[in-house]
Amino acid sequence: MILDVKTIGAPVLRRKAAPITKADKTIRALAANMLETMHEEGGVGLAAPQIGQSIRLIVVEYPQDDTVEDSPLTTYKLINPEIVWKSETLVKGVEGCLSIPGVVGEVERAESIKVKAQGISGRKTEITASGWLARIFQHEIDHLDGICYIDRAEKVWELSQEEGSDSAEPGDDESVNSCKG
Ligand SMILES: [Zn+2]
Repeated sequence: MILDVKTIGAPVLRRKAAPITKADKTIRALAANMLETMHEEGGVGLAAPQIGQSIRLIVVEYPQDDTVEDSPLTTYKLINPEIVWKSETLVKGVEGCLSIPGVVGEVERAESIKVKAQGISGRKTEITASGWLARIFQHEIDHLDGICYIDRAEKVWELSQEEGSDSAEPGDDESVNSCKG
């Protein structure tokens, strides 16, 4: 089921989301619907507050190996995710957000992180991520604390129609990825 994505201005996006106490079938169904919604909207991640539920649940999907084309995707459905370690090395990257249509921004984030969470069945899991995957996790986990990337962005700019969602900064020669979550 495709869910309604809340956009900036909705109070739920600014609330600290509550921990999930039980990984039950309601949560599993919600995660499945969030994943479907994320696919529909062309995102790489989605946090429960973005669909109006103030609970600590995120979904993320990313290629297993982002250096090769058509690499199989890994899907993460995480309950109560928590960043327990961040690298001192910071990297800049361009982010977009399904809750903030039409703009992207450059955000500095930790290059690598370690996340502790529960999987969708409730089992404890630990994930070490770097690069874009680490960025997506940081973006989504921020949503659980009521933080949007524009709060952290050094600059934010509008996308023109032609550029669509895969845009780079106008006039920037380097190719810039953007991730939408
Ligand atoms: Zn977002």
